[in-house]
Amino acid sequence: MDSVKLSQEQLEFQEYARRWLDENRPPPAPVRIPITALEVMTEPQRDYLRDWQSKCYHAGLVGADIDKKYGGGGHTGFQRLADTEMSRAGTPYMLNIIGLRMAIPTILVHGTEEQKLKFVAPALSADEIWCQGFSEPGAGSDLANQQTFAEPRGDEWVLNGHKVWTSLGHFAKWMILITRTSRDHKYDGLTYFISPIEDYPGVSVRPLIKMTGETGFNEILFQDVVVPDNYRLDDVGKGWTVAMTTLTYERGAAEGAGGGGGDEIPPIDQLIELARKSDRGGRPASEDSLIRDRIIQQAITDKAMRQNRRRARVSALCDHPMRIPLQGKLRDSEFMQTNARLGVDIAGASSTLYKLDPNAPDAGHWPLAYMNSYGQTIAAGTSEIQRNILGERVLGLAKSK
Ligand SMILES: Cc1cc2nc3c(=O)[nH]c(=O)nc-3n(C[C@H](O)[C@H](O)[C@H](O)COP(=O)(O)OP(=O)(O)OC[C@H]3O[C@@H](n4cnc5c(N)ncnc54)[C@H](O)[C@@H]3O)c2cc1C
Repeated sequence: MDSVKLSQEQLEFQEYARRWLDENRPPPAPVRIPITALEVMTEPQRDYLRDWQSKCYHAGLVGADIDKKYGGGGHTGFQRLADTEMSRAGTPYMLNIIGLRMAIPTILVHGTEEQKLKFVAPALSADEIWCQGFSEPGAGSDLANQQTFAEPRGDEWVLNGHKVWTSLGHFAKWMILITRTSRDHKYDGLTYFISPIEDYPGVSVRPLIKMTGETGFNEILFQDVVVPDNYRLDDVGKGWTVAMTTLTYERGAAEGAGGGGGDEIPPIDQLIELARKSDRGGRPASEDSLIRDRIIQQAITDKAMRQNRRRARVSALCDHPMRIPLQGKLRDSEFMQTNARLGVDIAGASSTLYKLDPNAPDAGHWPLAYMNSYGQTIAAGTSEIQRNILGERVLGLAKSK
């Protein structure tokens, strides 16, 4: 990002964002804040993060590139700068991540004027939290196998079905979801909706517990849920096209989202610090040549990934729009796994001390990060699916069976 030439206006905004974050750093959270927004499970966690997002929004650091009439800042190329500054400052992440990165851009591309005016601003400020209802028990990698059925009734739709792995569903006011409106066509039988979730008749939200002991995602049942036709996004039968827009933003292949997409790659410094304070046979682990070698390998990969991301800004290298973002999603998520694994190895036996143990290194971060990292290589499409898409659509290899 630094190598890209910024306009005077962008430079001033960058300076403003840096100063604002410096002067408005939030107080320490009164409760433990999970590693990502996908594991936020208690009301105090939610309230702390919601307040922070709201503050950032009102300071112009969220929704900076979105049209003013929908509640944004109306700028161009500001959001990426704000996100970078937030990462640099190490301030908390944005809570309403699905609203910012998926619902808002999808609504801006496919929504009616009425929908844009109603939904965008409260999502930017985190007044209204969003969740994503794509996955079902039989529709994950095979996303088009949706079975949640939407039946027309006058100018309403009646929804019945079962969504699963719905992150933030327990706090969500709204869900973006794919439904089936025809059993005759797999892809053309899909239609995309917005559905109310919180306290809405017929909607049941049931938390699912992860191996970390955290919840964060849910299964959500729809039993005769009535949704007005003006909550439909785009045409009946166009659900697959709309879903592809959501996935393009979710996988980071397009700009124009509401923000919150900062640098999520954990800094290598954390590993170095851990190695310095961990014991290896009476000496700091940072003096162990094998540990040093593994940290250096991580540092090299980290540098290479950051350089690769910059290539996304060179149009000649982006003959396919998904080339760099899909590589990024794949490599970042696998990197987080090797990073957390290395942290666990460096901490050694102390890694068995978990988050409530006062002797756990870094307050139990490493085992938690390691377990969480498996979700990263699954969410937004598994690594196998990312490799299939890169192979088939980007490199033009033969389709897998
Ligand atoms: C932390 C987390 C948060 C999530 N949040 C949400 C959310 O908010 N909303 C939502 O809708 N979903 C969410 N998901 C669900 C996620 O999108 C799905 O888990 C994912 O798409 C995989 O689907 P599945 O779990 O049904 O696995 P399956 O599709 O059943 O896959 C099982 C295994 O088979 C492999 N596989 C399947 N098909 C192929 C193929 N063609 N080629 C090669 N390998 C294949 C997969 O890679 C995987 O290893 C979340 C998941 C996680 C882990």
